[in-house]
Amino acid sequence: MIAGWERIRTGDQWKMDLAGEWRLSHGEDFFPVRDPSTGEVIARCPAATPEDVRAAVDSAREAFERGPWPRTSPRDRARILRQVGDRITDLSEAFVNLEVRNGGKTIRQATFFDVALASEHLRYFADLAERIRRERIDQPDLPGTTGYLLREPVGVCATIVPWNLPLLMAVWKVGPALAAGNTVILKPSSLTPLSALALASLFEEAGLPPGTLQVVTGTGPRVGSLLASHPGVDLVSFTGSTEVGRDILARGAPTVKRTLLELGGKSAAILLPDADLEAATDGAVFGIFLHAGQLCESTSRLLVPRKQADEVVRRLLEKIRRIRIGPPDSFETDMGPLISEGQRDRVEGYVKAGVDAGATLLAGGQRPDRPELRRGYYFRPTLFRGVTPDMRIAQEEIFGPVLSLMEYEDVDQAVEWANGTIYGLAASVWSSSRTRAMKVAEQLRAGTVWINDQHILTVHAPRGGFKQSGIGRELGPEALDEYTELKHVFVDETRQWSQIAYPLVLPPPPPAPGSSGG
Ligand code: NAD
Repeated sequence: MIAGWERIRTGDQWKMDLAGEWRLSHGEDFFPVRDPSTGEVIARCPAATPEDVRAAVDSAREAFERGPWPRTSPRDRARILRQVGDRITDLSEAFVNLEVRNGGKTIRQATFFDVALASEHLRYFADLAERIRRERIDQPDLPGTTGYLLREPVGVCATIVPWNLPLLMAVWKVGPALAAGNTVILKPSSLTPLSALALASLFEEAGLPPGTLQVVTGTGPRVGSLLASHPGVDLVSFTGSTEVGRDILARGAPTVKRTLLELGGKSAAILLPDADLEAATDGAVFGIFLHAGQLCESTSRLLVPRKQADEVVRRLLEKIRRIRIGPPDSFETDMGPLISEGQRDRVEGYVKAGVDAGATLLAGGQRPDRPELRRGYYFRPTLFRGVTPDMRIAQEEIFGPVLSLMEYEDVDQAVEWANGTIYGLAASVWSSSRTRAMKVAEQLRAGTVWINDQHILTVHAPRGGFKQSGIGRELGPEALDEYTELKHVFVDETRQWSQIAYPLVLPPPPPAPGSSGG
């Protein structure tokens, strides 16, 4: 165990970070946390009660109204964020281990993606914090006046994250929220709470004042929904399914909460007739089978010209055959398990829906039959051909390793199909002509469009969804805007603009000519 972590756990029993201390829930209840590659219980976490949620909000409110953090200089805030980013790098092996064991993430993905980016992105949010300053606004329509723009924190932020990128998603919310000077309550998924707790312990060690960041553990319906409706919460930042996102929006409405939503997707990869087929099929396989399809931007639909479909299928099958399913802690493994039994049931339900709707199952559709994988929630990479836009497997987010191949007649039809779902998170376009690919990219209703690549992300660009894939943006400088209130301070150097423009009381009439005035 990492030095210092004994305060956050005793054996397999973890505590939560509530109101400035590491503690159990008021009810002293726990829930089990599993390793999805074996189904084994690896930890127990406190099941927060309504009393715990109220205590967390009170503490965050107190820390916001009277604590030092919102009044700490951006430079000092940046220092703490950077320090935590550096500590994640120092402890990267421990964090990788948590993401692998608790999240079922392959060790390659956890090392080079989740954990590496978590520390890099915290350092980026530190840079953003340092850029916060009072800005002057020119007001040429009002000569003799000056405007100032102040960027202030919103208040108490409840941040709710899913299980598929437990550490990175927490960083994407906690980082900019703290950079802007807010106080934060983080609710991780009850399937993957461990790395969020470890993250909070690093902030504590770096000197973040008590109550500024708390982590409350428990299920969504019990803990998340209370945070989403609590009148003491000013902003809810949620990443998860569109279904829960709608509920969160409704719960925040009575108190008009600022709401950032990063929701589901049904992203399409469009292979144009001039695409490099080898690169495009590599990309298609990476786009859907990375993390067993459990990424919000997974390209779960592959749109190919009808004439090239046979060749594309041939290449896909060959590549799918080479994917090594296995324990996530092996560097040899390409694809690990799904996160839970429930998630695997859901994927199996969609495979059945695809077959029932008349799609042709060309690969997978089953659990692997190797005895050593029997206890984990594994599922084989799955390919359907003959998928039409009306089928559920073409419309609904499966969130598993299932690729739906659709054959289009012309590019207009491909664009119409790509846009033809309630989602608008991401898409990719494969072509040897940048001009042609750009033309298609411009027509796609999605927050991210890759040309000749897949899943690649930079912290410098905003990321988010069109349509029912979300509201607002994470990453890029825009991330900070989501957690910031803008205040306009207006200085009238002439002290009389309103009197000239719209006087409330008309000035007395000038004395009549010839009157004595006295
Ligand atoms: P989920 O919506 O079930 O849960 C997400 C989080 O919300 C969890 O912490 C959960 O405990 C909590 N929650 C559940 N019900 C709640 C409720 N009624 N009120 C408040 N909180 C509640 O999603 P999931 O299964 O954890 O994650 C998968 C989903 O997340 C997929 O739909 C995926 O597309 C989406 N996702 C989106 C992005 C993005 O950036 N757009 C990124 C990752 C995942």
